[in-house]
Amino acid sequence: MVLAFSIQTALLLGSLAALCTALVMILRTNRAVDRLREASEQLAKGDLATRVDPSGPRRVGTVAEALNRMSLELDMRIQTAISQRNELEAVLASMTEGVVAIDMDEHIIKINTAGAALLDADPVRSLGRSIQEVVRNTALQRFVARTLVSDEPIQTELSLRLHPGSLTNAEERQLQVHGTNLNDAQGHRLGALVVLSDITRLRRLESVRRDFVANVSHELKTPVTAIKGAIETILDGSDHDPDEVRRFMGIIARQSDRMQAIIEDLLTLARLERDTVQQSVEVVPTRLARLLTATAETCQVQAEGKKIRIHVDCPPDLTVPINAALLEHAIVNLLDNAVKYSPVGSNIHANVEVGTDEMAIAIRDEGCGIEPEHLPRIFERFYRTDRARSRALGGTGLGLAIVKHVAQMHRGRVSVESAPGKGSTFRIHLPTARAIVKSA
Ligand code: ADP
Repeated sequence: MVLAFSIQTALLLGSLAALCTALVMILRTNRAVDRLREASEQLAKGDLATRVDPSGPRRVGTVAEALNRMSLELDMRIQTAISQRNELEAVLASMTEGVVAIDMDEHIIKINTAGAALLDADPVRSLGRSIQEVVRNTALQRFVARTLVSDEPIQTELSLRLHPGSLTNAEERQLQVHGTNLNDAQGHRLGALVVLSDITRLRRLESVRRDFVANVSHELKTPVTAIKGAIETILDGSDHDPDEVRRFMGIIARQSDRMQAIIEDLLTLARLERDTVQQSVEVVPTRLARLLTATAETCQVQAEGKKIRIHVDCPPDLTVPINAALLEHAIVNLLDNAVKYSPVGSNIHANVEVGTDEMAIAIRDEGCGIEPEHLPRIFERFYRTDRARSRALGGTGLGLAIVKHVAQMHRGRVSVESAPGKGSTFRIHLPTARAIVKSA
């Protein structure tokens, strides 16, 4: 009886112990599963730094380790993707070409800063909007539509009118546009990639060059025709009296001088342009008063012929870093014009005005003056207010263009104040030593 009782008790105690162990196991498993659940929730929220303690029941521990490995791997991949995206953004942002990615529905999916600037669009607000909405230019819209159906890269040139309603700010921009397919990694077409380059300056330069060649040809054609006519008349077989021959020879001599003057001015301009590009202009501190007096003397004979007096006014000790030969050439051009376009017995003043950041060499005359509509273009090559008068006075139409170039080579500029019948003041503005030191 006692034995049976003891066996029963032992069995009961054994069952109790097993129950307790099972309970402890269940509790530990529950805690570990809770930890897993919490970690999964953190991961789902994007906290990839979350790690789970793998201690606890073996099976749950294995899951925890797998979860940790997964979050580590995911974290690394996302970091790689982020740094690749940042690199791509940096490349796109630093490109001078505009880049616009467009989906199959013609909505903008990406646009870089240069692209937004070229199209005058907002880089953020353009995203997700259609190209028609963002750029009101039918040529560009048609180009995008063509790119979306084309299997080959295509290109075109188009002009974009910016701020068309504005009177002061309206601008025509010339763009070279390349369009190509935008595909995903599997080669499926996502849309189109459009690359834009601003060629406004290039086209403008080409047009300036074309006009220049046409102008030079025209300017040289006139004397060549006159010379040819004179020679043909002398050689026409008939006997000319010596006076007539001398008259034709005079025409030939004058027209040859004219051609020579044009060619010399053209060569000077070409040399100035080359030196500007190569930045090979030497400047030396020079006494300006001495230079001004020398230029006035150069023009003295011509001035005396018209009884014109040239007055020089310059601080005697003013020394400026200049290229004396070039500046002398420019001032002579201004004095020469002043004499040419002034009446007999008038005065010309060559003054130096000194400011804080800038000084100016001002050549003032009491001549015919210039109509206001000519002033903005007066420094252009071959621009004249009165072509016949300029030619009659032996002008080439290049004098002021040379003056402007010389001023720019000295980091300066030119300006003119003039009114018909009231004379003109042409100025060569140069930075003062103070301004040069400030900008260095
Ligand atoms: P040009 O050889 O014809 O004088 P420039 O380039 O020196 O060529 O000058 C361009 C034009 O500017 C001249 O044809 C003339 O119409 C005008 N001009 C220049 N200087 C003066 C001046 N001092 N007074 C009046 N008109 C001037």
